Amino acid sequence: MPERFETESRKLLGRLRDAMAGDDAGQARLNKITHLIATSMGCEVCSIYLFRDQDTLELCATEGLNAAAVHETRMKLGEGLVGRVAKRRKVVNTPNAPQAPGFRFMPETGEEIYSSFLGVPVQRLGEPLGVLVVQSKTAREFSADEIYALEVVAMVLAEMTELGAFVGEGAAMSARHSQPVMTRGTVGQEGVAEGHVWLHEPRVVVSNPIADDPVRETERLTEAVDQLRLSVDQMLSMAAGDKDQQQVIEAYRMFANSKGWMRRMTQDIQNGLSAEAAVEKEQSQARARMSEITDAYLRERLSDLDDLSNRLLRILTGQGADTGAELPRDPILVARNIGPAELLEYGRKLKGIVLEGGSVGSHAAIVARALAIPLVVHASRITNEALNGDHIMVDGEQGIVHLRPEDTVAAAFRDKIAMQAAAQERYSSIRDLPAMTRCGNTIGLHMNAGLMADLPSLGNSGAEGVGLFRTELQFLVRNKMPRRSELSALYSRVLDAAQGKRVVFRTLDIGSDKVLPYMKPNDEPNPALGWRAIRVGLDKPGVMRMQLQALIRAANGRPLTVMFPFVAQFEEFRAARAEMDKALAREDRLGHVLPERIEVGAMLETPSLAFAPQKFFEEVEFLSIGGNDLKQFFFAADRENERVRRRYDTLNVSFLTFLEGIADRCRVTDTALSFCGEDAGRPVEALCFAAIGFRTLSMRPASIGPVKSLLRRCALDEVRQVIHDARDRGEMSVRGAVMEYVRAQHQG
Ligand code: PEP
Ligand code: MG
Repeated sequence: MPERFETESRKLLGRLRDAMAGDDAGQARLNKITHLIATSMGCEVCSIYLFRDQDTLELCATEGLNAAAVHETRMKLGEGLVGRVAKRRKVVNTPNAPQAPGFRFMPETGEEIYSSFLGVPVQRLGEPLGVLVVQSKTAREFSADEIYALEVVAMVLAEMTELGAFVGEGAAMSARHSQPVMTRGTVGQEGVAEGHVWLHEPRVVVSNPIADDPVRETERLTEAVDQLRLSVDQMLSMAAGDKDQQQVIEAYRMFANSKGWMRRMTQDIQNGLSAEAAVEKEQSQARARMSEITDAYLRERLSDLDDLSNRLLRILTGQGADTGAELPRDPILVARNIGPAELLEYGRKLKGIVLEGGSVGSHAAIVARALAIPLVVHASRITNEALNGDHIMVDGEQGIVHLRPEDTVAAAFRDKIAMQAAAQERYSSIRDLPAMTRCGNTIGLHMNAGLMADLPSLGNSGAEGVGLFRTELQFLVRNKMPRRSELSALYSRVLDAAQGKRVVFRTLDIGSDKVLPYMKPNDEPNPALGWRAIRVGLDKPGVMRMQLQALIRAANGRPLTVMFPFVAQFEEFRAARAEMDKALAREDRLGHVLPERIEVGAMLETPSLAFAPQKFFEEVEFLSIGGNDLKQFFFAADRENERVRRRYDTLNVSFLTFLEGIADRCRVTDTALSFCGEDAGRPVEALCFAAIGFRTLSMRPASIGPVKSLLRRCALDEVRQVIHDARDRGEMSVRGAVMEYVRAQHQG
């Protein structure tokens, strides 16, 4: 890059900094900046467009265009050349704007006389904030150096916007991070919570984007990168022996030593950016690229780079996770995503969790559920909007998050919390009573669990036992395969805590959405229909054998109940059962005490098993419906896909009739039957399942109270009649009819 250009660029940034240091209010500052850029770049026009809301850009300041158009001219994302820059987050450089694709004529601006156009996105860490444009009468393409210079300026503008530099009298913008924000996401775990934001990865604030001593800044960058490299090397030596972890760290190391990365940042510094701003500029561009890339491997690599940039920024600014900052009162964790192990570390200290990414079935969601912490996932932009300590309310019933809520919203929310607390009080008054219906049937209510942390709920919720213990959680929250002795000790503690109550251990259910961090992921086009659960267990029996041994040892003479997941045909059950028999024989040979009684069951999660030969129903000791999976296969609607997962009602007549058929078959062979999918914890669904013949339901501990309360009010023969009548009337779902019945019971 020519020396002269570097000096020009630095000069411009220097002037920008002076403009920022003056005591002008927001609008005057913006005006000054457009004037400075236009003159420095030898253009007649410079304009700044900022986002008013997520899809509208507004002309906020201009040198050269009609001043009356400021705050009047608006365009939608994607509209006109400016909208195009914002939408694609890419530079538009054209010598002849009116002829360029997408050009939209805006008569109020008077821009028709300007031929050449250069627009660059203003973005901070991949978050679009606006567009910076220069225009001139002479038809010419802007050079690579000019584009680069404008990008550097845009970067500084983004930082200034973040710092609230344009807020004030006749404001170009309202202050960011001070307005109430309401975000709609997806329910990950029900419950409501009020508290204060705790950002899992705190935002690094760069207060000095411009620096005029490039030598000093380069030194700072070099020192920080050296420190970073050292810490990566340390991580590498700590991961010795763990190949997969090492691989990840090697990728980090590659970036940390990348010459291209260092060269680009040094160049940015030469052009007037501070070391922090140079790191952030790189990071921002990587994030913008990340949003376009669909290839999982490349995305992963870019996200490694993102992680590394964060570390580097923390070293440079001295801010971040290691500052020893304390959790606020009633902390609500806000993050883009979080791993299950990290979440477990926070444990029950958290009042709520809000994730920008995540998914309902993610490991973090599973842990949040186990800890009964309200969770909202897919809360878009929350990490951009929230600041540490902000007041926040999480509505895990509706999937809504209120950030810095207004008083009226907060009051309504608190009413809701109070109502829930009152309901909990009611439920605890029936905790020790049986779930006996008005017609005298008793339904066994059990709880789902997966972590030691769940076990205290066994007593508190009034559950009769653990109807589903998801053993995979122990595998998911670690970074290497647990050893048999560890598992056996854990299962033994679970049985101790259960104090003789029945615990149904489900063998490892991995694959599909549950990918072990230390197992090579399988590249399957359709993982939910792929190599998962019992299929993996039977094809690679080593882990299953180890787990069965651990369970037998943990029982140490006590009764043991084991269930195999995702059995699609009789043969699979037989093969798995044979593994259990072999394990028992082996343990016996080795001199271990065998369980006093052993029950082996299967999960019915694929429609095929419902039609298995009668012999299967005779051989299997119990069946548990995994409704989450069964429903997705019955309706061919992915349980992880927000677009379709709620499309079909569980109380749809077809599905209920199907379930009733299974209950009937089990009655013939006297096979114990339960339902352990999420639907078992929804009171109206639970009532219908009981009415069609289910006598055992397993659910989240928090659901036991509401389900029991409803069951105790209703008569199953009446509900069965309501269901049959609705079916006879040709209704698609029995929900309406059953709800009406339920309401009548509440009034009565
Ligand atoms: C189910 O599929 O209903 C079930 C209980 O198993 P998971 O949700 O763990 O797949
Ligand atoms: Mg399942």
